[in-house]
Amino acid sequence: SMDSAPLLETSGLTKSFRSLVALRDQAIVVRPGEIVGVIGPNGSGKSTFFNLVSGFLRPDSGSVRFDGQPIERRSAAEIVRLGIARTFQGTRLFKALSVAENVRAAAQLRHPSSMLDALVGTPRLRRAARRVDAITGELLGLVGLTGRAGVRAGDLPYGDQRRLELVRALATQPRLLMLDEPAAGMDAAETRELMDLVDRIRRRFGVAVIVVEHDMDLIMNLCERIQVLAHGQTIFEGAPAEVQAHPKVREVYLGH
Ligand code: ADP
Ligand code: MG
Repeated sequence: SMDSAPLLETSGLTKSFRSLVALRDQAIVVRPGEIVGVIGPNGSGKSTFFNLVSGFLRPDSGSVRFDGQPIERRSAAEIVRLGIARTFQGTRLFKALSVAENVRAAAQLRHPSSMLDALVGTPRLRRAARRVDAITGELLGLVGLTGRAGVRAGDLPYGDQRRLELVRALATQPRLLMLDEPAAGMDAAETRELMDLVDRIRRRFGVAVIVVEHDMDLIMNLCERIQVLAHGQTIFEGAPAEVQAHPKVREVYLGH
């Protein structure tokens, strides 16, 4: 709700690559459990924003606060453990590993075991392993991949690979899930299924979601609020209906 403290808050976020300003003075507030869309033409800075928040890039200036804590100097691994998970535009699965192994590897990012734990099989390790198994089982069930747990990830149909990406992100038990073009390459039916899934995930786990997507139906139906980027700058932010009606957005993004 509007009165809860922000989960994510960026301010003045700026990143250049040589002379190109990929993101300029970006500011966004995401509250717990909210679902926010980020749209804009190719090259408008959407993935750069994701990379800055998830620790894959350092900002030139500006701040990223998560749960009130500055995180713009943290590593990607630390940020995962704080509770931010992201997916990538293309899939980044371990194609030679099984579906279950892919999910377990992700869950272990959140529940790392020390060398000593692993060597002596401490109770802490056994507890962590049980937790990882439970998370893996539940998530595969949620996306209908239980029967595929032993299949090589690379042998899954494309739609299932994208669902597995989503499960891998969730396996780190995030409070904020960032999805970069999750429906890319999906047909209309697969996209609808994915929308349902993201909504179910949000309700089941209470995570906040930021989604970058070109599919306007998906964005408009799924998101409570949308930020529109063009040339690295926020040109509008509002509810889906406001975004669709805004002349500048129509001109820049929707092309009419
Ligand atoms: P979007 O995700 O909205 O398509 P990006 O954030 O990927 O846009 O890119 C924004 C701009 O920054 C683009 O012009 C892109 O070419 C450039 N860019 C992104 N990442 C890099 C990088 N690592 N090195 C150089 N230029 C980059
Ligand atoms: Mg992108």
